[in-house]
Parts: sequence; structure tokens; C-alpha cells
Amino acid sequence: MKQIQSVKGMDDLLPENAPAWQYVEASIAEVAERYGYREIRFPILEQTELFKRSIGEVTDIVEKEMYTFDDRNGLSLTLRPEGTASCVRAAEEHGLLYNQTQKLWYTGPMFRYEKPQKGRLRQFHQFGFEAFGMAGPDVDAELLIMLARLWRELGILEHVELQVNNLGTSEARGRFRADLVAYLEARADSLDEDSRRRLATNPLRILDSKVASTQALLDGAPSLTDYLDDQSRAHFAGLCEFLDSASVSYSVNPRLVRGLDYYSNTVFEWVTTKLGAQGTVCAGGRYDGLVEQLGGKPTPAVGCAMGIERLVLLLRELEVIPGSVNDSVDVYLVAVGDVQTRALALAESLRTELPYLRLVTHMGGGSFKSQMKKADKSGAQLALILGEDEAAKGEVGIKPLRTDAEQQQVPQAQVACAVKGLLDL
Ligand code: ATP
Ligand code: MG
Repeated sequence: MKQIQSVKGMDDLLPENAPAWQYVEASIAEVAERYGYREIRFPILEQTELFKRSIGEVTDIVEKEMYTFDDRNGLSLTLRPEGTASCVRAAEEHGLLYNQTQKLWYTGPMFRYEKPQKGRLRQFHQFGFEAFGMAGPDVDAELLIMLARLWRELGILEHVELQVNNLGTSEARGRFRADLVAYLEARADSLDEDSRRRLATNPLRILDSKVASTQALLDGAPSLTDYLDDQSRAHFAGLCEFLDSASVSYSVNPRLVRGLDYYSNTVFEWVTTKLGAQGTVCAGGRYDGLVEQLGGKPTPAVGCAMGIERLVLLLRELEVIPGSVNDSVDVYLVAVGDVQTRALALAESLRTELPYLRLVTHMGGGSFKSQMKKADKSGAQLALILGEDEAAKGEVGIKPLRTDAEQQQVPQAQVACAVKGLLDL
């Protein structure tokens, strides 16, 4: 019978890759908690309307990337393409935003119908941070400082560049959009096809077009920076000052816009040159209007999301995943003959005495030789050997598998102590 395959662009995470993911996820969550961000979990499915109203009707995501379907009752549901909208919905629904500030983080799968390629999937995973109720550039800066710390701790800080920009108010963007469209319409013949289409739908997105001729055309175009109101200018200057004094390096990219409608004021991206075209590992900004747009009271907010696939790829590329992060066990217990009851008891007592020990007990019998082969293949540092001889003497053999050291016979009561010494636990 023909085997059923996974859905295109939706990868399985195999055990050999899981430790790197666990390491990255644990590192991010730990840094988040150190800055007072607390975890929130919300469903993977939401009403379609939530994403339409927040991300924007004429964005790539809503126009062509969402997994949308009607449930059995005819209600339109969508697999979340990102987390911010759901986070705002959940926080608002449970009164977390009323008269208080709130710093939240979330993680989980997101779904976008895109062309799958390296660093771009249809089910991918994000970690996100959202800070509500704080309007000043200090919280924007703290978020970026936190991210810089995270990159430093992951060993990738030297290989990601922070780009920042200010999108101003929606009023300023409106005036800029009109002038930009007029400028580009007069030169529409020289525009690439994608950008020509965007001229009518989402002209700001043309600014981050990857097409060289379009970028050249933009050199003479109006610049959003010239349209900013005083408050946005002051906010941006404040942010830059905070970053300077915290020694976080950045570059100002006046063409940085984001693909979602809800951003205003501060926007940023952390980009790397090490992953080809999929170089943005983390992106975010301010969205002071979104809470109100979704039915809440006006609430300033800033946040970001990072792609875990891209982070893991980058860490692998740079070879900075610590050696201690691996999927192998520490100890493989070889049990030959009629000793299975004793083997299980020995394993349990070791787990009680050495809670950090990763121990696999051989199951299913087999010869000494075949069990030792499995022990070796498991990646374990040590084989513990319990045969009928050992059982009769109340001993256990300890054989180092990765060094030339001799096997030693140890009384059962001393096995934990010996293992601890050998493994440096
Ligand atoms: P891109 O310009 O690469 O499409 P984006 O602007 O659509 O990114 P965001 O919506 O801001 O991305 O998502 C934040 C982060 O999530 C990205 O910087 C990236 O690391 C990751 N990401 C986004 N889409 C995908 C995807 N399809 N596959 C894997 N990771 C993704
Ligand atoms: Mg995208």
C-alpha cells in the first residue's frame, strides 16, 4: 500500500534534532523570564476575522498565506499565521490589559501557505514577546537589549545585525504612501512585476523589494523619515539613545517596513547574511493601535517574533551548539541472562540517586555481544554490565565505552558513586 507522507512544508522534528531545539527553546524562555516576561498559551485556531482585522486585508499573509476553512458549523477558522493577534485577543479577553502593564511570551507552531524552502516552511515555529501598556522608547530598547543578550548567550551576536526604523503614525504613513505611489507610478515601466502589483495594494512593501533595479529606482524616492511627526522623531531619538548607552549596535534602515499592517512607530529586524535569502531571524515593532482595533481600550504595545527553524539553522551553520547538547544517553545497562528483575531494580536505584543520569536499560534479551553493540550505538559513555555472574556476586561491571580504560567490577551499593565519578555528574 502507498505510504502516506507528511503535508508539504510541514516538517517532522526527529529525535536527533530535538536536543538542539530544546536547547534553543530553553535558552529563549530563560532569558524571557529573567526580564519579567511570563508565558501565555493560546489556541492554534482562531476565528478568521481576528487575523483579517489585525494583520490587514491586503497583506501577503491574509491575501494568500492563510490556512482557512469552515468548521462543521460554517464558522470560518484559520490556523494562526503568527502570534501577536491571538496574544492580544487572549490578553484582552481575560482582562490582562486593564489598568496594568503586561509582559508576555509565547511559543508554538505557526502556519503560512508559502513556497517551502530552506528557512521557510508552511508549519514553522516562533517565539514571541509582547509588552503592553508602556508607551515610551525604554521598553522598545529593553526588548532589543534582551534580544542582544539572548544572541550573545547563544553565541550568534556577531552574526546578526540589528536594523531599526520608525514608521511614524498612520497619518504620516498615509501622506508618505501617497507621495511614494505618485513617484513610482510615474516610473511604473521600470518596476518589477511584483512591485507593480503592490503599487495598488500595499505600496510600502515595495521598499523592501529584493529586486536590484527596484531598489535603484527607490534611491530617488521620497523617504518616510521626512514625513515623521515630532513625537515619532522624539521616540526614535530616545530609542537610539538607549541603545547607544547600552552598547547595542544597530543600523538605521529607512526602507525597513514590516509585512503586517498593525505596526506603527518603532520597527526592527535582526538579520544575518549566513542563511541566504531567509536572513531575518527576528522581527517586530510597536503596534500602539492594535488593541483598540481589536475592540479593547487604547493600549500601547511593542513586541517581536523569532523563527526557531532559522535560529537552529544559524546555530548549526556557526557551529555554536554546545557539545553537551546531544541526544545520546549517559549509561546503557547491559543485562545478560536471567537478571531482568535485578536490572530494573538497579536502574531505578540509580535514577533515584542520580536524578540527572540518562540511563537506558536493555530490553528484549540477546547475547552479551549484541547488547554491547547497542550500548555503543546509543552513544552512552558507560556500559553497566549485569550478567548472572555479577548478579550472584552482588556486583556490576562498569565499562567505559569512549576511552581505553579497563572494565571494573564494583559492588552494587557503590555503582552510583562510581558512575557519578566517571561521568562528572
Ligand atoms: P520573511 O520576510 O522572511 O517572510 P516575515 O516578515 O514574513 O519574514 P514575520 O511575520 O515577521 O516574518 O515573522 C517573524 C519571524 O518568523 C521571521 O523573522 C522568521 O524568522 C520567521 N518566519 C516567518 N515566516 C516563516 C516561514 N514561513 N518559515 C520559517 N520561519 C518563518
Ligand atoms: Mg513572510
